[in-house]
Amino acid sequence: MLKDKNAVVTGSTSGIGLGIARALAAQGCHVVLNGFGDPDAIEQNRAALERECGVTVRYHGADLRKPTEIRDLIETATRQLGGVDILCNNAGIQHTAPIEQFPPEKWDAIIAVNLSHAFHTIHHALPQMKQRGWGRIVNTASAHGLVASANKAAYVAAKHGIVGLTKVVALETAGTGVTCNAICPGWTRTELVEPQIAARAKQLGVGIEEGARALLAEKQPSQQFVTVEQLGQLVVFLCSDAAAQITGAAIPIDGGWTAQ
Ligand code: NAD
Repeated sequence: MLKDKNAVVTGSTSGIGLGIARALAAQGCHVVLNGFGDPDAIEQNRAALERECGVTVRYHGADLRKPTEIRDLIETATRQLGGVDILCNNAGIQHTAPIEQFPPEKWDAIIAVNLSHAFHTIHHALPQMKQRGWGRIVNTASAHGLVASANKAAYVAAKHGIVGLTKVVALETAGTGVTCNAICPGWTRTELVEPQIAARAKQLGVGIEEGARALLAEKQPSQQFVTVEQLGQLVVFLCSDAAAQITGAAIPIDGGWTAQ
């Protein structure tokens, strides 16, 4: 059903974004990857995805703090693939500190990458989706788009913001064939979370795996990490016809975190 749809997945050189890109490519979608990282590793992932799934996979290195580069990402993807049908705004960064010690430049960077980039990609990609009468926008929010934690002022503000943006886009596109939803993962073991695991382990004077268990015990009742494969399959479902009437939703996938 998603065969030959064209997808842009931001922040897809690692973690959840790469999981989403893999799941979409496995359904036959052509994909533009985006994100930072070692050029050789990025090229290996790109070529492997293309080979394994028999689809076109391109890479664009836009720095999502920069609106002109975001416009180029959408324009280049449109030119290379012939359009953008599926837009996954997934890139995100983290910094933890109490608000009095929170560096203002970290606040600006987190708001730019975790929130504003999604405004810019949607701004540029939506007209063509509306014109074709079909589109899927999936924003990676977080459990922190629904509830807060201490020491994450910028992250929680940005993730609540992206849930709000998701609702507005859903209202503005209702009935057009375009849907816009947010996914709200709990702890997922990626590069974004490893420093938090290490910090917890250090604080408790224990090993890394015990630090990971302590992190889960605090927030995630299942005591299990969400996997990038599970997140990829949730995005595939939201892109399917079965999900055509799901729009403006913020869907938790968090082992019970936000049920508490
Ligand atoms: P990750 O660090 O593995 O991936 C982040 C991606 O964003 C990478 O591809 C990175 O290169 C890219 N990126 C960062 N800054 C960028 C910039 N300026 N321009 C372009 N790309 C940039 O982390 P992840 O956990 O896979 O995070 C993906 C998304 O999931 C984020 O929005 C994050 O907030 C969200 N999330 C993660 C968890 C978790 O527990 N890991 C939970 C909830 C939500």
